[in-house]
Parts: sequence; C-alpha cells; structure tokens
Amino acid sequence: MNIYKEAEQFIVTNPKKGSLQNRIFDAAKEKKIKSNPKQIYALVSSTLKYKPFILQIIKKSKLLTLEKKSKLTESMAILLVHDLLFSKGGRIQSKQHPLKEAVIRNKTRIQAELTKLKLKHGVQSLDSLIEEDDTPIRWFRANLIKTTKDQILREFSHLTEVDNINDIKQGTIYHDEYIPNLFGIHPKDKLTTTDAYLKGRVIIQDRASCFPAHILNPIPGVDKVIDSCSAPGNKTTHLASILKNTPNSIIAFEKDEKRSKILKMMCEKAGGLKCIKIHHADFTSTNPLDFPDITGFVVDPSCSGSGIFGRAFEENDTKDDEKDTDRLAKLASFQFTIVRHAMSFPNAKKLVYSTCSINVEENERVVIDLLKDPSIIKRGWRVCEKKDVIPTWPRRGFVEEFEAFEDPQKYADACVRSLPKVDGGIGFFAVAFERDC
Ligand code: SAM
Repeated sequence: MNIYKEAEQFIVTNPKKGSLQNRIFDAAKEKKIKSNPKQIYALVSSTLKYKPFILQIIKKSKLLTLEKKSKLTESMAILLVHDLLFSKGGRIQSKQHPLKEAVIRNKTRIQAELTKLKLKHGVQSLDSLIEEDDTPIRWFRANLIKTTKDQILREFSHLTEVDNINDIKQGTIYHDEYIPNLFGIHPKDKLTTTDAYLKGRVIIQDRASCFPAHILNPIPGVDKVIDSCSAPGNKTTHLASILKNTPNSIIAFEKDEKRSKILKMMCEKAGGLKCIKIHHADFTSTNPLDFPDITGFVVDPSCSGSGIFGRAFEENDTKDDEKDTDRLAKLASFQFTIVRHAMSFPNAKKLVYSTCSINVEENERVVIDLLKDPSIIKRGWRVCEKKDVIPTWPRRGFVEEFEAFEDPQKYADACVRSLPKVDGGIGFFAVAFERDC
C-alpha cells in the first residue's frame, strides 16, 4: 500500500508547481518518498490521464459514501480504482489491506459504472477518449469572402481526395460531408505556410466548431445576427462567409479587451470588416430593445473547455469533486444567463448555443433550464427539429437527460455532440432554438 500512500500527494497537489516528473524525482532526492520514483511517476501519470472518468465512476458507484468507515480518501480511491480498471494486470498492487478491501468490495459496481460510461460515449475503450494534444485531422474552411471551394481545391490539387476521414493520411484531402466548404488534411501536411492560409483564403477551424454558424444558416440580405461571445472570431468569420459578407449583417460582442483586438485582427484577415461590426462590450449589459433588427444568434460563451485535448485532464485537477461541481455550476449559471438574455431580443427567431465542453452540466442541463424558464416559455422559444440541426450527424444529445420531457428524443435530436478525437476533432456541443415572431 506504500506506493499508493506516497503517490497520493501527487494526485492532489496543484500541478502548476513544476512538472509531475520533476516533483516526483525531487521528492525522491529529498527522501520524501521511499518507493521507486519511476514507478510512482508511471502510476500517477496514468491515473491523471483517466482521472475525469475515474471521478465519475467513483461518484456513480457511491464508493466513498459506502466506504465512509474505512477512511478511504478520494485521492486514494482514484489510485486504487485506476489500478483495478486500467492497469495492465487489472489489480491493486498490495497485500491485504483495509483500503484495498474497501475497493474490492465494490468491484462489481465499479466495473458496471465503467461499462455504462463506455456505452454512454459509444466507445469500446476509454483510451480513445484519452488523447494527447494533437488533433487527428487539421480542418480548414474555404473563406468564401475571398475565395471559392473550387479555387481551394485547385490550390490543394497536389493532395489526393479521399471520401472518408479514416482515409486521411499525409498527401490526402477530405471534403467534409457535414459542413460545406470544409476540408480535412493530415496535421503533418503543410498549411500554415501556404499562401491560401497566409492571405486568409482558408481559415483553420475545427469541424465541430463550424456547427453553430452552419446550423444558424442566416440568409444574406435577410438576416442580421449577433455573435454574443466572439473572440477569437472563428464563428464570427464563418457567419460572415455564409452571409456572403453582406454589409452590417453581424454584430460581434467581446468582453475582453485583448481578445477583442485578436477578434478584430481575425475579422480583418478574413476580409469581413464590412459585414462585421465589433463591440468591445459585455453582451449581457446590452438593451435588447436597441437591436430590433436582429434575427439570429450564435451564443458560444466561456466554458470549462473539457472537450479540448489535454485541457480536459488538467482542468479536472482540482482538489475535490465539490470544487469541480461548484465551478461547473457557476459556468452553467453564466451560460444560462447569457442565452436567456439573447432570447429576450424582440425579433430574434433562431439561436444556436454551443460549448467546447463535454459536460452535461454545461450542455443538456442548460438547455433544460432554459426550456423551463417562464420568460423563455412566454416568448415562444422551442428546440429546432432534427431536420434543421445537421440531421445526418449521428452523435446527438444525451436522451436520458431529457427524460422529464414528453418525447425526450425530440430534445436530444435538437442537440449535436462531438467527442474529442473519436469524431475527428474537439469535443463539442451545440443546440438550436427557434420561435415564430
Ligand atoms: N466564438 C469564439 C470562436 O469561435 O472563436 C470563441 C468564444 S470563447 C468560447 C468565449 C468568449 O466569450 C471569450 O473570448 C470571452 O472573453 C467572451 N465572453 C465571455 N463573457 C462575455 C460577455 N458577457 N460578453 C461578451 N463576451 C464575453
């Protein structure tokens, strides 16, 4: 049990104080740990990789509550559950010990929760959800303000076209079946040094991040839209491309000063400044009555970023579950507030809410809170039908979250989800709402 007791401090310590490897080897040098530092490092680094999933399993299996008497701490439980479920031998490296027995007593429940988690994510192994920082595919879209799809295909004609993302390898290009004018290439193929990229004819943007503007699908010359949380401007410039750069058809809000400068730079590079008006301001302090001509919204607020590679695992390095829950509750409350504000604009008739988070708290549960809100009900907002929300995209919202509603599938279908890496890019969530007005 010694190795686990010594490893425990590295599961709870704030990782910002030096790399994990240095912290463990320094502790060994200073004789603060007796076990082999290489072994501790292997155990802790693998455990941290799986930590977000292990935490969910611990919570769902009620391990800590059921074993309160055994004084099993959360960090010890994380290490022991890791070895039970994810180590090569699938066993806890210890002789008989009360803490080991506490976990073994709950083995069936713990394994059942792992199975449920895999089913929920539609994967055979959680390894496919645990990824390094590289994107499997470099996605970029033709910026229709400056070019056409055909011109881009000509510029990249040295690459062989493939019909499936699984066939993408160096030297190939894939034209996406879900998002018009979007292409995927192997990350090792040249892009950022090409003239097309440097002159803004193509814009690097993850596929799932293209979902919101595509779902909103504003009509040039008819719609005028607000991007409430714009920087660095991926979705804003995508909207400008869809709106064919129609003058004054987008208002882009960004609260943060530095980020609003980045937003301006991106819009300029995309050639969209005729179409996009940038407001360096807090969107929630706008008066909706000042914007009677706004018909649509993209609301892509700050979120936990748990769908972004690598970050998902660092972000979860909080000391306890409560802290995570608290943080997510604050984010969800802000996300709800900002969408509700957008829904109060007098002539808004369609709105897409999105996050690069894979947590239900920031996604389906925000949708539920919005749909239950009396002012939103009064204004006539409802979820869009599946046919209007990338109908062929297979991964939808979690239907079990909408069980309290009649026809839960309808609500799940109004949402699209993407899983980090498994779906060829970042983890993402989007939902569309509409109303008649
Ligand atoms: N939509 C952007 C894109 O695709 O490039 C990414 C947006 S990022 C997830 C969220 C942004 O919203 C951040 O730049 C943040 O500063 C900004 N933000 C947060 N709260 C805001 C508010 N109340 N009003 C305006 N911008 C806000």
